[in-house]
Amino acid sequence: MQRQDIFDSYKNYIMPTYTKVPLIFVKGKGSRLWDIHSKAYLDFFPGWGAGNLGHCHPKVMSAVRDQVSKLIFIPNNYYHPPQAKLARELIYWSYPGKVFFCNSGAEANEAAIKFSRKFGQGRYEIITFVNSFHGRTLAALAATGQKKYQQGFAPLPEGFKSVKFNDLQAVKDAITDKTVAVMLELIQGEGGINVADKDFVLALRKLCDEKKLLLIVDEVQTAIGRTGKLFCYQHYGITPDIMTLAKALGGGLPIGVMIVKKEIADTMGPGMHASTFGGGPVICKAALAVLGAVQKEKLLANAQKMGQYLFAGLNELKAKYKIIKEVRGLGLMAGVELEIEGKPIVEKCIEQGLLINCTHEKVLRLMPALNITANQIDKAIGILGRVLNNTDAHG
Ligand SMILES: *Cc1c(COP(=O)(O)O)cnc(C)c1O
Repeated sequence: MQRQDIFDSYKNYIMPTYTKVPLIFVKGKGSRLWDIHSKAYLDFFPGWGAGNLGHCHPKVMSAVRDQVSKLIFIPNNYYHPPQAKLARELIYWSYPGKVFFCNSGAEANEAAIKFSRKFGQGRYEIITFVNSFHGRTLAALAATGQKKYQQGFAPLPEGFKSVKFNDLQAVKDAITDKTVAVMLELIQGEGGINVADKDFVLALRKLCDEKKLLLIVDEVQTAIGRTGKLFCYQHYGITPDIMTLAKALGGGLPIGVMIVKKEIADTMGPGMHASTFGGGPVICKAALAVLGAVQKEKLLANAQKMGQYLFAGLNELKAKYKIIKEVRGLGLMAGVELEIEGKPIVEKCIEQGLLINCTHEKVLRLMPALNITANQIDKAIGILGRVLNNTDAHG
């Protein structure tokens, strides 16, 4: 297919639910992508948070190839080794519990919401936070504390209240005798890279214990080394009651996971929840390869080290350019809040061969692969610096 054919096909046959960048990609390796004209790009936002190993990691590719040649799919009323191994591995690296497999972040959160209601035996209200993002299915959307995503889809399932982030009193004020859970992103990704305060999280954990509320931590964007630890909650010295995972765990293939702590995991029994493709053999092999690569290639240490390097570079830009209001984040999850709209900056970076994202209108989001190098960071900071320099001078 030629370039124009491809654009036409999208225009005529694909629902226009995405704001699109007019680039057609055909190949990827690590942090590099090539478009249809063989132009190379440096990808500092691989897979919208799903690309923690970069593109086409060799261990993921060979694990998938190997499994595809043996057995592609087996439904969940039977057993298969990759699912058994992946569940054991996830529990080993997190906390004693049990796992439910599905295919996406929204589905994992949907499972957590259903689980909470079953657990609540009549208690059903879930407290979430302003500027959170939990996915696009109706219940996950109701949990999402951003009106812009909800507009036009009423009525949403009831029982959700969004309160101010990092505000314990706001949570306390929202609790009723119907409340069953609090759902939290430790770093709000889509909401603008807002980092939860440690004191707030510790106090929230205590509050949830006192009031017998489940603490659901949505790690769909923060997990698998993104913040320099395998799971972000490990920075805070707490353990969630429920954690949801998706994005980076599949190494580029779709997966969703809910992990429920052991004591309550058998709240759900046969027939209460299901997902046809959840935890299939191919995706489980891919996820095992991802976890293996994170360990063997010491990617957590690299994410910490390169994270510091990235933040040092971004803070230098902040010292130079007045249009940068704040630099924030953790590990390799970086947000650069601007005084102006971020869209033109992103477009100019893309023209210069650097792929980044803008969220919450004014926040540039950089989330490079965990195996990013200092050279690649220098290159990205160089491009961003030139773009900001031109914008500052003309703005
Ligand atoms: C992306 C995201 C989701 C939704 O995941 P999908 O796989 O797109 O359904 C949920 N929560 C958070 C924190 C996310 O970043």
